[in-house]
Amino acid sequence: MDVCTTVHALRARLDEPRRARQTLGFVPTMGALHEGHLSLVRAARAECDVVAASIFVNPLQFGPGEDFAAYPRDLENDLARYEAAGVDVAFTPDVATFTPADRLTTVHVAGLTERLEGAARPGHFDGVTTIVAKLFTAVQPERAYFGAKDYQQLVVIRRMVADLDMPVAVVACPTVREPDGIALSSRNAYLTPEQREQARTLSRALFAARDRWDGDADSARALLRRIMGAAPGVRLDYAEVCDPQTLEPLEGVVGGPARALVAAHVGGTRLIDNLRLDPCGAGTQ
Ligand code: AMP
Repeated sequence: MDVCTTVHALRARLDEPRRARQTLGFVPTMGALHEGHLSLVRAARAECDVVAASIFVNPLQFGPGEDFAAYPRDLENDLARYEAAGVDVAFTPDVATFTPADRLTTVHVAGLTERLEGAARPGHFDGVTTIVAKLFTAVQPERAYFGAKDYQQLVVIRRMVADLDMPVAVVACPTVREPDGIALSSRNAYLTPEQREQARTLSRALFAARDRWDGDADSARALLRRIMGAAPGVRLDYAEVCDPQTLEPLEGVVGGPARALVAAHVGGTRLIDNLRLDPCGAGTQ
């Protein structure tokens, strides 16, 4: 595995496979790697000739008072995990160079970014789309892999790619969970054993809503809020049942697919999770 720290070095490394018309898959992450991240690498490895993966703790997507400084970082260990999972090229740009203080350009996806995470974290998605657009420009992958764990992010990136005619296929990968249902997240590292137990409430509520899903968005939303509202140590941020594409809240009985999305604070840690609602529990989780 080669490690490139500048866009220039990355381009030079990817020049030859590009000229040889090899398919390039790309996995962007913020590091502190777990099986969720590595599942994206494996999906890319299975489908592409060359796999590039980045590690960049993106300062633009953290708001004031959020955990940018405290976010877990372990570059050496992450690089070893990338290599073991089959990454060919790791891209680890430096914060000051990749996000210079004098930059004037922001990529903004309207509408979709105003709800849910966007309402709770103003400016978050501008930070995400600006950096993902820069990463796509640097890497120029044919395929880019994102987890359904960050479902709104996935929808926003798909929309950016469509609206800007970016020549990249966005591939969604299912959420990887612990055996007890909790979604893997780098932020789980912040939880004490007791909080880890309380954090199970998010997935417990989602699976309950899915198991009882009868097409009624109002009762599914009420169930999510009831379960999460009653759980000790859990401070509900939002629990919504939305259209999977527009992320508009659904009301009453709906004929088509739906997505349940939740966010909550457990201690000082903010966690998110989501699940597709359908009667058989099939499809991308
Ligand atoms: P992050 O490093 O948290 O920004 O995540 C990088 C990528 O990994 C994003 O596409 C996430 O959606 C994805 N990801 C994070 N956690 C999981 C998980 N538990 N299962 C699947 N994908 C995940």
